[in-house]
Amino acid sequence: MSRNQQLFDRAKARIPGGVNSPVRAFGSVGGTPRFIARANGAFVWDADGQRFIDYVGSWGPAILGHAHPEVVAAVQEVAVGGLSFGAPTEGEIDLAEEICRLVPSIEQVRLVSSGTEATMSAIRLARGFTGRDTIVKFEGCYHGHSDSLLVKAGSGLLTFGTPSSGGVPQDFTKHTLVLEYNNVEQLKQTFAEIGTTIACVILEPFAGNMNLIKPSGEFVRALRELTEQSGTVLIYDEVMTGFRVDLHCAQHLHGIKPDMTTLGKVVGGGMPLAAFGGRADIMACIAPLGSVYQAGTLSGNPLAVTAGLTTLRLIQRPDFHLELSKRTERLAQGISEAARRAGVPMCADSVGGMFGLYMTEKVPSSFAEVSKADISAFKRFFHGMLEKGVYLAPSAFEAGFVSDAHSESLIEETIALAAEVLKAL
Ligand code: PMP
Repeated sequence: MSRNQQLFDRAKARIPGGVNSPVRAFGSVGGTPRFIARANGAFVWDADGQRFIDYVGSWGPAILGHAHPEVVAAVQEVAVGGLSFGAPTEGEIDLAEEICRLVPSIEQVRLVSSGTEATMSAIRLARGFTGRDTIVKFEGCYHGHSDSLLVKAGSGLLTFGTPSSGGVPQDFTKHTLVLEYNNVEQLKQTFAEIGTTIACVILEPFAGNMNLIKPSGEFVRALRELTEQSGTVLIYDEVMTGFRVDLHCAQHLHGIKPDMTTLGKVVGGGMPLAAFGGRADIMACIAPLGSVYQAGTLSGNPLAVTAGLTTLRLIQRPDFHLELSKRTERLAQGISEAARRAGVPMCADSVGGMFGLYMTEKVPSSFAEVSKADISAFKRFFHGMLEKGVYLAPSAFEAGFVSDAHSESLIEETIALAAEVLKAL
C-alpha cells in the first residue's frame, strides 16, 4: 500500500474525511489524495517521494513558488523574537501601509487570519455602515464559509452539488440575494426595484471558484454605477485575485474603484493572514472607533505579517506580473492547442497568474455554461496529469495558479505532458 494511502487511512480515523478542507479529499476526482511532504519552487513532493509540478500553489498564496528563501529567512528571523503577542507591532503598520500604497482604493485596512474572516467582517461592516440588511452575491462565487454567504457558493460546494450547506438556518440567508454573474439586465432590474435597500454587493472580480470566469467590462461598469447611485457598498473580494492578476489587483485591470476590498492568499505569503479595507469613512465604523464589532487573537500575527510583507516586496520586481501573465497565458494557449489537435473538447483561459481549464467547446462566461463541463473527461485528464507528475486542482471547478518559479521550460514540459494525456483520452 502506498504511503499516501496509509496516511489517508490514518487521517480518516481522526480527521473527518481525512482532511481539514473538503476539496483536498479528491472527492470529485476519486483516488487517494497526495499527502505533501515538502515543497520547493514550482514543485511539491508527496509522502511516496513522487515529485509534481504544482499548479495549486496552496490555492493561490505561493506566487513566488514554495519556500522562497527570502520569505523563509524573514519568517525565521522574526520567529525567534516571539510567535504572537496579542498587542500591536510595527510590522502590522508596515504591511498596512504597503497594502494602501499598492491598492489606492484602500485608505484603511484591518488584518485578519483567513479570507472567510475578511469577507464576513467586510459584510458586517457594510451592513453597519448603511443600516441595511440585504446583501447581493453572484451564483458560483465563493466568499468563504460564513453562514450568510453559503448560498449557491462555488469551490467545494459546487463539486458536491449542494446549493447551500447544512447547519445554516433559512433565517440566516434570507437577506442574501443571488444574481447571475455577467447578467447586466438582471442587475439593472434588481437595482431599479430594491437598490436603496441593498447594503452591499460582493464580487469576485475574476471568479475563480467556479473555475475561472471573467466578467465583461459592461458588467463591472454597471455594477459600479448602480451601487454608487443607490448608496450600496461595492466589495471587491480579491482574496484570490489580489496581487495575483496584477500588482494593483483586479480592480486596477477593471479600472474600477470599489468601496471595500478583501484580500487573502498572496497578501499572507503562505501564512494565515487576510485583510479587509477600503474607504476611511466606512472603516471608521469598526470597533474600537465605531459600533461594528470585529476582533482576533492572532490577527496581525508577526510571522504572517512578515511573510506577507516580504512577498509583497518581492513581487514588485519590474515586470514581475507581465512575465507571470505571459507564462500563464502560454500554458493556457498550449493546452488549448494540444486539446484541439487531440480532438478533445477542452479549452483554457488565463488572467495574470491564474488560469482555467474547461472541458467545454468554448470558454464559459457564466455558472450555467461552466456547469456543462464534461466532468468524467476532467477526471481522466486530472489523473493522467497526476501520473505524469503534474499536480492540478482536484476539481473541474477550481482555477489553477502559476508562480514565478514556473520557468518557461517547465511550462513547455507541462504542455507536452498534457498533449500526451489528451491524445490518450
Ligand atoms: N474569497 C475568495 C474569492 C476565495 O477564493 C476564498 C478561498 N478560496 C475565500 C474568500 C475564503 O478564504 P479562506 O479559505 O482563507 O477562508
